[in-house]
Amino acid sequence: MPDRSHEASRFTAFAESCLDRRAELRDRPDALAEALAHPEARVMVFTGDLVVAKRTDTTLEVTFTRRRADELGSDEAEAILLGWTDRDVPWIAVPVRRDGDEPTWIGVEMLGLRALLVEPTLDPAHMGPVAGARSLLDWHRRHGFCAQCGAPTRPKHAGWRRTCKSCEAEHFPRVDPVTIMLVTHRGHCLLGRQPRFAPGMYTCLAGFVEPGETVEDGVRREVREEAGIRVGAVRYHASQPWPFPSSLMIGCYAEATSQDIVVDGEELEDCRWFSRDDLARMVEKEHPEGFWLPIAGTLSRRLIDDWLAQS
Ligand SMILES: [Zn+2]
Repeated sequence: MPDRSHEASRFTAFAESCLDRRAELRDRPDALAEALAHPEARVMVFTGDLVVAKRTDTTLEVTFTRRRADELGSDEAEAILLGWTDRDVPWIAVPVRRDGDEPTWIGVEMLGLRALLVEPTLDPAHMGPVAGARSLLDWHRRHGFCAQCGAPTRPKHAGWRRTCKSCEAEHFPRVDPVTIMLVTHRGHCLLGRQPRFAPGMYTCLAGFVEPGETVEDGVRREVREEAGIRVGAVRYHASQPWPFPSSLMIGCYAEATSQDIVVDGEELEDCRWFSRDDLARMVEKEHPEGFWLPIAGTLSRRLIDDWLAQS
């Protein structure tokens, strides 16, 4: 494995993976069948957006034997080959069958991926594969028909593409880039909140990158739109897969060149400058106005914590 110890990305949730993807093997026609036939193959089962998991006192297992996955109702026609562990054991993700017999659900639970952010018993190195599988299965579910001609599509390349049965157009899984930025100015940083947030939580501004735009320009546009602040230099810091359904969060530091906030009132209901002392109190949940920060593991919190540590 390459040395990733200097990369801030690896300290975000969904970033760690126990798997080597070996993407070069996916175009072998029998890659998926061989992986499924491996005597130790591990199978991750999803029902909709929920991953099926088995809990013990100390662990949360998100993979099963192929036989157990079959009992749970796995649909191997829609399987995805996720990669191999360092012991050469393949991991495969499958959705449950949407028709047929009721699957047997005993001794397992179904978890949304946001719940995994606060799940202490799941191995962090299993978070990346779960996130990738969730994004890919969601993409397959929504791309059963060709965007070019409307005919049905079928999975190919061990679940990493779909091909149209009629015009043979190839369709690739989407990743949607989202910028998330900590805007700083004279020792303060800019945080905002949307109406849907839990009361008191403030976080970094964020927004989708638009077609024809660089990450840096996306940061500048988004901050201007939402907070009326002009931004100069933009510097990349870390990224995070965000499987809701398939974003890539691109975390940046951005230097403001203006100070007066004009909240757009649509995306944000409030936005303000916070001092380092404010942030330290928010970390401890001791802010006098009851303000607090996103949980550890989020890229927003990574940007804030690393900025505080730089002081
Ligand atoms: Zn087509």
